[in-house]
Amino acid sequence: MTAAVTAEGISKRYGDTIALKDVSLSVDSGDVFALVGPNGAGKTTLVRTLTGTTMPDAGSVTVLGQSPNQVKKGRIGLLPQSFTPPERLSARELLGYYAGLYDDPRPVDDVLTDVGLETADETWYTNLSGGQQRRVCVGIALINDPDLLFLDEPTTGIDPAGRQALWSLITDLADDGTTVFLTTHYMEEAEQLADQVALLDSGSLVEVGRPTALIERYGGGTHLRIETEQSLHGIESLGVDVETTETGLRIPDVAPAEIGEIVSRLEAQGIDYETLTWTEPSLEDVYLHLTTETINEQQPSEPAVNPVGESQ
Ligand code: ADP
Repeated sequence: MTAAVTAEGISKRYGDTIALKDVSLSVDSGDVFALVGPNGAGKTTLVRTLTGTTMPDAGSVTVLGQSPNQVKKGRIGLLPQSFTPPERLSARELLGYYAGLYDDPRPVDDVLTDVGLETADETWYTNLSGGQQRRVCVGIALINDPDLLFLDEPTTGIDPAGRQALWSLITDLADDGTTVFLTTHYMEEAEQLADQVALLDSGSLVEVGRPTALIERYGGGTHLRIETEQSLHGIESLGVDVETTETGLRIPDVAPAEIGEIVSRLEAQGIDYETLTWTEPSLEDVYLHLTTETINEQQPSEPAVNPVGESQ
């Protein structure tokens, strides 16, 4: 498998802010590669470095076998995090305009169909929904039929239906052989779409791997989430290990047969809950586990469990 993107030892600072610390990664051709991390983790800086928009302080990058600035512009598509095209132009006009910048663009009608805007093609950009607007922007990034597509937070701020539409578009692109490098702070998005996931935290790459492998390795067992607006201060023991979260409790390693007993104990202590969810481990659990471990690297063997009632 050839690499569409490689980064070796990338570091970047802005004044005193370290945006990237010694980041190395490799993206296989044809894969969807998801870079995940919270706001400020360094995702945009890494995308800017990989696309040749920002020069790193240290390290080297190859894109489609060349340095980013040498690659023919028609081979790369880029959707930046903040990108607002002229508002009083339609999707058709915008795609036509951007098509004019390339020697061999795709037909506008084909791209409109790909992004599902064939019936809203004459509507001004400003009058489209958030999800439709973002799909126009993805369409602009696709007009040159790129081999490699960078999408920086493609679904941030978009409603669930719009997100689903973009997910299926990204899946179709990957099925047709386009390499997709996307950033997101939605773990579910990475889990759904990515062949490889890279976890970025405070500028450092914490782990890279297939979502299933990461979940198996770091996700822990099944768990029960209990959301309550009640104060849990002073709650007596539930007889199991619990972690407090922003919205209530998280109880790891709960078997389905144990749920009833835990609910009875909650009720016995007068705890009303809004929701109670039993779930398999997800990429979010991996991220919480790995980033907590990084923060607490002095005590790597300490489990990330807080007694009930203590704030995190
Ligand atoms: P993310 O995309 O994960 O939200 P960014 O790459 O935008 O993260 O930012 C990483 C860090 O670098 C943040 O602390 C941010 O404030 C800082 N940063 C990013 N770009 C600049 C810039 N042009 N000037 C100064 N600081 C910046």
